Amino acid sequence: MKKLALHWKIIIGMVLGIIFGFIMNSINGGKGFVTDWIAPFGTIFINLLKLIAVPLILASLIKGISDLKDISKIKSMGLRTIGIYIGTTLVAIVIGLSIVNFIKPGEGMPQDTIEKIKEKYENDAGVTDKLTKAAAQKDAGPLQALVDIFPSNIFKAFAEASMLQVIFFALFVGICLLLIGEKSAEPLVKFFDSLNEVVMKMVDLIMLFAPYAVFALLANVIIAFDDTEILIKLLFYAFCVVGGLMLMIGFYLSLVWFYTKKSPLWFLKEISPAQLLAFSTSSSAATLPVTMERVEEHLGVDKEVSGFVLPVGATVNMDGTSLYQGIAAVFIMQVIWPEGLTFTNQLVIVATALLASIGSAAVPSAGMVMLVIVLESIGFPAELLPIGLALIFAVDRPLDMCRTVVNVTGDATVSMLVAKSLDKLHDPKPKEWDDNYDAVK
Ligand code: ASP
Repeated sequence: MKKLALHWKIIIGMVLGIIFGFIMNSINGGKGFVTDWIAPFGTIFINLLKLIAVPLILASLIKGISDLKDISKIKSMGLRTIGIYIGTTLVAIVIGLSIVNFIKPGEGMPQDTIEKIKEKYENDAGVTDKLTKAAAQKDAGPLQALVDIFPSNIFKAFAEASMLQVIFFALFVGICLLLIGEKSAEPLVKFFDSLNEVVMKMVDLIMLFAPYAVFALLANVIIAFDDTEILIKLLFYAFCVVGGLMLMIGFYLSLVWFYTKKSPLWFLKEISPAQLLAFSTSSSAATLPVTMERVEEHLGVDKEVSGFVLPVGATVNMDGTSLYQGIAAVFIMQVIWPEGLTFTNQLVIVATALLASIGSAAVPSAGMVMLVIVLESIGFPAELLPIGLALIFAVDRPLDMCRTVVNVTGDATVSMLVAKSLDKLHDPKPKEWDDNYDAVK
């Protein structure tokens, strides 16, 4: 019998998780059961993915750089990657702003709905937490983000999984391996090559657990929804974000089609397990190992490219997040600060949403923290900030899930484009977890 494809297994797990979540939501004690007995399996899965992220970045980037054999190629790959990342993010913000200005989801929201939302969420721990985190970000100096790329202790960087610091270290090691010559570099290159294979195999094994883990993750998301009435009131706004995100996916597919001449449907099918995990975990960082495995083994991007483009992308390229920030900022203004809706302010939003998406951590809800900074940059009244966040808080989790899918798809697309431009896109050679099992069982 033909084996069911991984993405179908994950989709079945997700659907069952959603149904189970709704059932548990309506049963007495059901929420507690999910929290105590189901959710931990989702956490275990995310922990396993995070566990392998640092060794994976390290091994694939060091191996990749040493395979490039040419420092000028690293420079051109770096410049292309950053250039395309900025380009796609600008497209995302412009799409977001166009939709929200055209549809105007915030206009005419009834005052009693605003009051109700305000009452329910203005002092919610989730909202105050975002404001506190945003204040901490803002207090840092202008060059702090740059300083943060350079670790003073690499073990601390590993322990904290500081992605950019790990990337910097791996690049540094990779370049020095090139500089010491092939013969001296050989033992270390072989070591990282083998480590890379081991970690990729770990991804295959962890993915066997994915259909069950997404069940747990989604059941846990569903039990958190308690006020469907408010959710329905925000549907219009949510549709704008989801519509914009879908346009973005269409944009990526056309880029893949035009530039690499690969079928968009094939691209979607091969990358879908990573997209489904991005949706279930709301974290591009947690999804990174799976994105790397799909892009390398199933899309045919060489390690030299994916090992650099994807970890950098997971940290700095968040098109879904920037599109969302543009729409959310204007929506909030339409509802509670219409006088701020000037053309200049929208231009400022373009610039700050670009920077904010670069600065957003690749974890759940980070986009909302940086949204505060986007709003502050246009002089949004401080006393209205908690109400502004309260307005969008109820639908933030589902939208976070959707924008994370776009963030991950954007990274995969750019790695295809960069690989094609450097002649590093080849026929994929997918590996299965049990390729070598017979020999060792
Ligand atoms: N959850 C998103 C990510 O990890 C970031 C965000 O938009 O909140 O990619």
